Amino acid sequence: MRPTTTNTTLRALYKPQLLRRTFTTSRPHASRLRQPGEPTGPNEPPSHISTPPSKSPLKVWPIVGIFALGSFLFKKIVDQRLEEAAYKPQGPVVGMPAIGNLGATTRTSPLWSPDAVTVIFVLGGPGAGKGTQCQKLVADYGFKHLSAGDLLREEQDRPGSEFGEMIKTYIKEGTIVPMEVTVQLLENAMKASMAGDNKKGLFLIDGFPRKLDQAHAFERTVVPSKFTLFFDCSEAVMEKRLLQRGETSGRADDNMESIKKRFRVFVETSMPVVNDFESQDKVVKVSAERSPDEVYADVVKMFKERGVEPIKLKLVQTQNA
Ligand code: ADP
Ligand code: AMP
Repeated sequence: MRPTTTNTTLRALYKPQLLRRTFTTSRPHASRLRQPGEPTGPNEPPSHISTPPSKSPLKVWPIVGIFALGSFLFKKIVDQRLEEAAYKPQGPVVGMPAIGNLGATTRTSPLWSPDAVTVIFVLGGPGAGKGTQCQKLVADYGFKHLSAGDLLREEQDRPGSEFGEMIKTYIKEGTIVPMEVTVQLLENAMKASMAGDNKKGLFLIDGFPRKLDQAHAFERTVVPSKFTLFFDCSEAVMEKRLLQRGETSGRADDNMESIKKRFRVFVETSMPVVNDFESQDKVVKVSAERSPDEVYADVVKMFKERGVEPIKLKLVQTQNA
């Protein structure tokens, strides 16, 4: 097989001894001290006879190859960085103003103990029915329902919000809003709720955590969760529900293009969170493909198994009443 430019270049870069051998094999006696005037090789003239400079392409191609490979690798790194910036923002948020007021995630210990505040995370793919089930749980169990998506949309629409434009872009792209913002919004909402009528501090946190960094940050700095309620649903069913919801929701992300991106982010970024909690035996999994009431009946059963009981007795109307 004829060596390609890339092969030659790679060899030149990573196996310099190979290249050296290429040059030295034509000089079998190179290691021996040469006598003055002695030819340098069997086919070479004595050194006093001048020869034109060698035009061997081997001397040029490694340099051209290294340059080409360098350019190729540089372009790849730039492309990768651009993709990461678009889809997976990490760490401190570039260009985010007034980061100082997003202090929640910088604390070193939780704000509340799990004895004082109960947090149940609610996860599932987009359209799995998290919001629908949370509404039912609120009515029967007295939880405060906090949806990360709703809080972000509220902040996005709040006049004068310095994060509004950024949130809008993330939501449209179906990507994960930087955790500093989401965790702070949740903490603020929790404080407000407990200062109001939620003295017991019972929370269902819906659509959160969607990424491992926010799961760890929340549990480290706000409060460790009790468990995660996970709604298992196929993409085909979720897609149908979301497209139907999109007919009236007015949401910028209930369209086919955003839905596909949200599915990808869910599988790649949010499922690792579910798996992580599952490894700690902190996941209650419910199949979400049946009717809302059937799904809810399962949720109630699972909650009971975890020691969570309804607070309200339902009044059932009998025929004689
Ligand atoms: P999520 O909060 O997980 O995005 P929603 O609760 O908003 O999902 O539900 C998405 C859509 O599917 C809504 O239009 C809702 O009415 C509908 N829906 C929710 N649960 C069910 C279900 N079990 N069966 C059929 N439709 C459902
Ligand atoms: P949802 O209302 O739960 O469907 O979420 C809508 C969008 O809000 C998501 O696609 C994300 O862009 C953003 N979002 C919701 N929850 C979170 C979260 N926990 N962390 C970061 N971004 C989120």
